[in-house]
Amino acid sequence: MFRNDLVDQEDPVLASHTAVAGGVAVPQYDLELLLADRCAQLGVDVRRGIAVKGVRSTGGDLLADADADADADADVVVETDAGELTAGWVVAADGGRSPIRKQLGIDFIGTDPELVGYQCIADFDDTTGLSHGWNWTPRGVYAYGPIPGRILVARFGPQPEDRDAPVTLEELQEVVRDVIQTKVTLSAIHGRATRWSDNARRVKHYRHGRVLFAGDAAHVHSPFRAQGLNLGFGDAVNLGWKLAATFQGWAPAGLLDTYDTERSPIADWVLDWTRAQVALMRGDERTKQLRRVVGDELFTVPGATNKMLAVSSGIMQHYDVADDATAPVGTTVGDVVLTSGRRLADFAHDGRFVLVDRTHDGRFADAVQHLSERIAYVADSAADMELPSLLVRPDGIIIWAADQDDEPASDDATKRLDAATLRWVGTR
Ligand SMILES: Cc1cc2nc3c(=O)[nH]c(=O)nc-3n(C[C@H](O)[C@H](O)[C@H](O)COP(=O)(O)OP(=O)(O)OC[C@H]3O[C@@H](n4cnc5c(N)ncnc54)[C@H](O)[C@@H]3O)c2cc1C
Repeated sequence: MFRNDLVDQEDPVLASHTAVAGGVAVPQYDLELLLADRCAQLGVDVRRGIAVKGVRSTGGDLLADADADADADADVVVETDAGELTAGWVVAADGGRSPIRKQLGIDFIGTDPELVGYQCIADFDDTTGLSHGWNWTPRGVYAYGPIPGRILVARFGPQPEDRDAPVTLEELQEVVRDVIQTKVTLSAIHGRATRWSDNARRVKHYRHGRVLFAGDAAHVHSPFRAQGLNLGFGDAVNLGWKLAATFQGWAPAGLLDTYDTERSPIADWVLDWTRAQVALMRGDERTKQLRRVVGDELFTVPGATNKMLAVSSGIMQHYDVADDATAPVGTTVGDVVLTSGRRLADFAHDGRFVLVDRTHDGRFADAVQHLSERIAYVADSAADMELPSLLVRPDGIIIWAADQDDEPASDDATKRLDAATLRWVGTR
């Protein structure tokens, strides 16, 4: 198990990402309300209760290669049970069983599952032998609590014949008894029990002409270490501004295709980590010992737990955004507090790039003045130069940083800033 007491909170990388350092868990319900609010503010029209039946192109090939010309004329017609809609672009965010992915016949490449998991809130007649927290048994793994009645159970073995059939009390009872190997008795399930697996797959390309895949529609894996929603969020944040730039006509050449090149390796990495986690849960004696070595010996090495936290939270992610770039370029900007006491994030709400100019003479202002519609310029001169001047993309990725010793002037920093704006922000 991940042990919070082994995290070194003094680690500067963790400390600069306050949400990760503090380990903030956000209930999905709250997140959905927050997003719905934001959609309402932006005037996004969310239509609920409408089923998508299929998509087709008004002209060219809907399944065009990922590198197809973004300016091809064809639109996408979305067929729904409430009529047809025509769109320039469609983002298929329709979940792991994505009907759009299936309709288009797009391969979902990866590894078959070896366990079946269940999660629900249940009433129990008999809890004999049920232990709170996470528990390993020769047949699988289960977690009981911390919410009263919550049980998560995963059993290694074959998949159910009908993956879509609702989970019955009998099915759950049988699995719980088999994994825990006691006579634990369930009397009722509250709401709906979910069934899932460690099926680990992804689409080869995130973009197929004017259809883009995001979230579970693009990748699925076991839910251990709780990374699925974060991974989908990463897709959305990466894609949103690029699609807007393409739609608005200012995207530099190839911008939209960087969605695929940047997100594919991240999905591969999450799939591989979750595969490794499942492998560590097998019930045999050797795996039990492997679990002990990894958990009790390797993770107690100083820095190991921090690395795991930084990697699994995503703050270690790195995109190839500039030639010969070294960190922090390519990484996600931390929770930067400016000299004024305001946060860098405060300037990012309107979806523009943010340039934080830390020089005394506002040296970098001229380089971005002509792009003010797309770059928010923030002068933040300070006596200490611990934080260099930065240019941050709308998705929080640093694409340029002045060197610490850029006081006094350095032509090189300005040249690199010009190259970064040309590559990511465009020319007008
Ligand atoms: C047991 C379990 C625990 C998990 N715990 C965590 C966790 O702690 N943290 C975490 O980050 N992730 C967790 N995950 C993963 C997370 O739930 C998923 O990664 C996430 O919900 C995927 O979001 P999504 O929007 O891509 O897809 P979904 O949430 O599947 O949403 C897809 C949407 O598309 C709609 N849809 C599908 N077909 C159609 C159609 N034809 N017409 C119209 N609408 C359609 C569906 O109704 C649905 O609303 C967990 C998953 C499981 C199974």
